[in-house]
Amino acid sequence: METPEKQLFGTNGVRGIIGEQMNPELVMKIGMALGSMRKGRIGVGRDTRTSGPALSRAMIAGLLATGCDVVDLGILPTPAVQYLVREHFDAGAVITASHNPPEYNGVKIIEGDGTEMDDTETILLEKRLLAEEFTLAGWKEMGTLTACPDMVHEYIDAVLKCWKDVDAEGMTVVADPGSGPACETTPRILTKMGCRVVTINGMMDGTFPGRMPEPTPEGLQPLCELVRETGAAFGVAHDGDADRAVFVDETGQFLEENEQFALFERFICSTTPGIVVTPVSTSFLAEQIAENTGSAIEYTRVGSISVARRMLARKAEGKVVAFGGEGNGGLIFPCHQHCRDGGMTAAAMVALLKSSGKKLSELRATLPPHTMLKDKIYTDAPKELLKTAENAFAKDNLDLTDGVRINRQGMWALLRPSGTEPFMRLYVEAATVAEAEAFRDEIKRIISP
Ligand code: MG
Repeated sequence: METPEKQLFGTNGVRGIIGEQMNPELVMKIGMALGSMRKGRIGVGRDTRTSGPALSRAMIAGLLATGCDVVDLGILPTPAVQYLVREHFDAGAVITASHNPPEYNGVKIIEGDGTEMDDTETILLEKRLLAEEFTLAGWKEMGTLTACPDMVHEYIDAVLKCWKDVDAEGMTVVADPGSGPACETTPRILTKMGCRVVTINGMMDGTFPGRMPEPTPEGLQPLCELVRETGAAFGVAHDGDADRAVFVDETGQFLEENEQFALFERFICSTTPGIVVTPVSTSFLAEQIAENTGSAIEYTRVGSISVARRMLARKAEGKVVAFGGEGNGGLIFPCHQHCRDGGMTAAAMVALLKSSGKKLSELRATLPPHTMLKDKIYTDAPKELLKTAENAFAKDNLDLTDGVRINRQGMWALLRPSGTEPFMRLYVEAATVAEAEAFRDEIKRIISP
């Protein structure tokens, strides 16, 4: 459930429509609040949205006014900012609305370790912002501003270093960065790995003329066609800030994101078994593959910050953390960094296909049978509804990490309130459609008769 104290920020930063909830004044105040909390050198980046230049300058003004030194990283993917912050800066900010349509923009705050700011710190930042408690610097303490638009190459090199033994000579790949910041990164990464790269929506453009920033199967039809026409091994597409990657197989079929998670998990864990961290909403494929590879699943609340923080905590305990991420194309490869990374995921697909010697459609066919249904239950009383479910299914194996997850032999269901709207999300997964529908109907009969 969304933390009720948060008023401006959601699960992944603050977002809104430009000229309405989102404007330079708000972003400058976020900058002043952040600069009052985190001193030192701050890296600021942005995606390709038309409002990016106005908002990033507002962020930079707020940070400079509180005495922070700012490095303007220009246009680059969110995971590139996260990598550069971890390597060089005390904190960071990305002006992006991720997968939202072009009229939106927003801010993601990055901590010194490269992870996104967590709920506790975000609430402190919001309180400071709303009370306008800013520690503004005098003229001698003003921050300095440096422009470093080329630092993105360090990120590209860091991704390539992870796969330096992979030679993709002869592999054709189609990349669809969706006119976003990965236009300058993913095609380069794939080319340097030896691939022949064909791009679509490969020019940065904040009006997103080719498709919306959310990489949906419908929006990716031109990518699917291009994959078939060019005989590519796969197609890859990103969301608006390229922390996610989704794939199309060599036949032009969209690879469902939970299947994507499972294939990468099997690839990583078969050579490096360890802990796999994912939210309670991820497919049981993840659990089955963990069992088959001598690994162990750990479930967290929904949201990549929870996943990333758990991975770091287990690593700090000396445990082997193999893999993590969400079943939405946001994958975390801990050998590289502890955040979702679309460019890294695209490169990992090359490595996966090279090491397996199989086609992507063949690999997908090796996954166990599974059907996931997603439903909505409209309610004004989510807490009562969750309590009803908890009592009614008390004899089942319940997981209350985030909402109510009901675990049964060969199937599971999750009831979880939407953070922003008056409905409950219901996810049900089983081996067959019939089993999943029966389980879904049973739950709906009991909680909303
Ligand atoms: Mg994103």
